[in-house]
Amino acid sequence: MRRTKILATVGPGSIRLGTLEQMVRAGANAFRINFSHGSDNEHAAYLKRVRSVGRARGRQVAILGDVQGPKIRLGIIQSGSVRLTPGQRWILDSEVNRPGNATRVGAQVPRISQAARVGDPVILGDGLVDLAVEEVHPRQLSTRVVHGGVVSEHAGIYFPRAHLRTSVLSAKDRHDIAVGVEHGMDFLGLSFVRDRHDVRLARRVLDAHPGGSAVGLVAKIERAEALDHLEEILEVADGIMVARGDLGIEVPLERLALEQKRMIRAAHRAGRFSIVATQMLMSMVHAPRPTRAEATDVANAVLDGADAVMLSEETAIGDFPAEAVGWLDRIARATEPAIVSAAFRDDPMPPADRSVAERAVARAAVDLAEGVGARAIVAPTHSGRTARRIAALRSRIPILALSQRPETLRHLALTWGVVGRPAPETKGGLVELRRAAYRVAESEFRTPGPVVLTAGFPVEGRPTNLVTLVEPVGDPDPRVVSSQPRRDQRGTSRV
Ligand code: PEP
Repeated sequence: MRRTKILATVGPGSIRLGTLEQMVRAGANAFRINFSHGSDNEHAAYLKRVRSVGRARGRQVAILGDVQGPKIRLGIIQSGSVRLTPGQRWILDSEVNRPGNATRVGAQVPRISQAARVGDPVILGDGLVDLAVEEVHPRQLSTRVVHGGVVSEHAGIYFPRAHLRTSVLSAKDRHDIAVGVEHGMDFLGLSFVRDRHDVRLARRVLDAHPGGSAVGLVAKIERAEALDHLEEILEVADGIMVARGDLGIEVPLERLALEQKRMIRAAHRAGRFSIVATQMLMSMVHAPRPTRAEATDVANAVLDGADAVMLSEETAIGDFPAEAVGWLDRIARATEPAIVSAAFRDDPMPPADRSVAERAVARAAVDLAEGVGARAIVAPTHSGRTARRIAALRSRIPILALSQRPETLRHLALTWGVVGRPAPETKGGLVELRRAAYRVAESEFRTPGPVVLTAGFPVEGRPTNLVTLVEPVGDPDPRVVSSQPRRDQRGTSRV
């Protein structure tokens, strides 16, 4: 079983039903819909199609709707792109609908003359081309190209010394959130977060929609300012995305690897999940195999302890979407045995989990499961919290979360090591619960061994307070053993 989750971006290269199915078969646990591209109708169609593929395959496939945020983009360009040479002049103006050329281009900057001052740098696209502002006029900025290259229409424009504080959510983002909530997205990806206030604002916007409070919030860490406020962002978000694309413009590239490790670790300490994103298998947009460096990058994210790894262009517009998912799956499986669980167990417990009992119960479940070589740890859960707490200990034993709430199961699709399945109907008695837990674990995991059950007892909703070993002693099939629990010398009852 693979523990690290795979999040794949849906786009024109992968939206065919057959391709989505292949990606789920290859191991995709969740899909990202990027609201930066496409129309309302396309977004709604993507959401419905992904949901239907998950249902058809009986899998809890989660959907993350990723809003564009206050990203500024170039307008259209006559032939789709333009080559800029160092030293030439290029004007950015506010005429977004007038096709650009080698002399000028429109830019979607709200108040262009306030965005930059003379001497400020302007970075285009993924950071390869940059300009210097020479003159500021009421409706345009005149710039000189510093590093040249090919610039495509709709490329991002980035003002590192921005003099505007815009809201983290544009009118378009608020609209896209409404579409996403209406069509049942499970997570919102919030772009260009600066601090906890941005996350709280997005939370309020989500909560204002019917069903919006069930949507988890993923803060994309892609600004230097967010790195300075990482801990407070983690207090209010459900998870973070290490968004290396835009972050790689704000933070010197040579520091990116260490920042990635710091972010993953901080998320773990806060009891949140982390997703490592962008250019993981970039060469696979056009090639069926990754480069050595890409394979190693993915393996390092797995070793860092990321809950999930993400594909962007590779699956959105690439020629080999299912193959790219397959490579993430293979690399993660091959690397996970080298994860050093002890390193994660020494992390302090997250603030929300500081009850001695909860900590002790989670550790006891893992110790017992590892001690007896359990087939799985089974955790009936309402909110997913029990499963997440056990996952944080990074044990090699699979965690089987059982819940009657489909949204809980889908949220766990981005949590390391957890398999979510619908909870079987039981009348709530311990004997019945034990038997049901064993049965589901047996059908999910073919490896032999007993099962460790950890739950809130006597009723669901209680804090997790029970750890019990379920083993079919002397009879390989616990279903045919008497329904009366018997006590063995260790005090564990047998099903
Ligand atoms: C990123 O910048 O790495 C990222 C994931 O954001 P987006 O793809 O939305 O630009």
